[in-house]
Amino acid sequence: MNKPPLFSQPNHATQNTRCNGTVYLVGAGPGDPDLLTLRAAKLLGQADTVVYDHLVGTGVLDFIRPDAEQIYVGKEKDRHTLPQDEINSLLVTLSRQGKSVVRLKGGDPFIFGRGGEEAEVLVKNNIPFEVVPGITAANGVSCYTGIPLTHRDYAQSVIFTTGHLKDGSLNLDWKNLVSPRQTVVIYMGLGGLPEIAHQLIVHGQAADMPAAVIEQGTSNKQRVVTGTLETLSDLVVAMDLKSPCLIVVGEVVALHKTLKWFHGATMCAEHAAQKAESIG
Ligand code: SAH
Repeated sequence: MNKPPLFSQPNHATQNTRCNGTVYLVGAGPGDPDLLTLRAAKLLGQADTVVYDHLVGTGVLDFIRPDAEQIYVGKEKDRHTLPQDEINSLLVTLSRQGKSVVRLKGGDPFIFGRGGEEAEVLVKNNIPFEVVPGITAANGVSCYTGIPLTHRDYAQSVIFTTGHLKDGSLNLDWKNLVSPRQTVVIYMGLGGLPEIAHQLIVHGQAADMPAAVIEQGTSNKQRVVTGTLETLSDLVVAMDLKSPCLIVVGEVVALHKTLKWFHGATMCAEHAAQKAESIG
């Protein structure tokens, strides 16, 4: 791959990169490699070792220095290639070997990315580290679907929450999640969607509130299914959506129809319903 010209430009970034023994917790963005930050691209071009998750888009890996060591640690739901403890120890070991290490994570490292836990381990072990923000799935998906997260006419606040708690339960602050004029973005919520939708309705959300599920947002495989809180779970089953998927609930979802510009594989409720019918 041809390295983009940014590599020959003067370094306007804060610090010089590649520091031996340093661990860089780097956000890789939601999928489209063009959404990498310049800082992330520079670090990938210089690190000795890159430790990455399954959510990191393949195009992003093209930015890695060709002779760098690449270690895949997985972390797919219920199929952890390396348990978190071992990932933590790996980072400590690699850094003690004097390597500059990029720990590459999908989206942003500090949003549902366990970046905080890894940073705590690095602090405990006196390992120098930096954290490089990435475009989180909510931001990427919002822009690539034409669903603004806030809008003066529809939503004055936005909440990012997770539908998958550490102990496997789904004990969310439902009352808070049904506040009016608010967009709710749910990470890791695909498996729990029927229960999430049910609880939101039980706690006062309108059953016909627009809602969407976005699969592999920002990538060429992006699929968008829109419907209402009531209809969404069935549509997801009909469309056979698979992880990674983001759920967005709120009036802003209705704007997708007019503001969509990126055509991965957009699917409106009507199409999905037709497809569901034809599936039988
Ligand atoms: N740190 C990441 C989130 C990791 S949690 C970030 O900031 O984006 C993993 C969850 O993120 C997935 O289960 C899914 O809900 C969401 N996700 C990540 N990438 C996504 C994508 N391209 N499209 C849709 N959802 C995505």
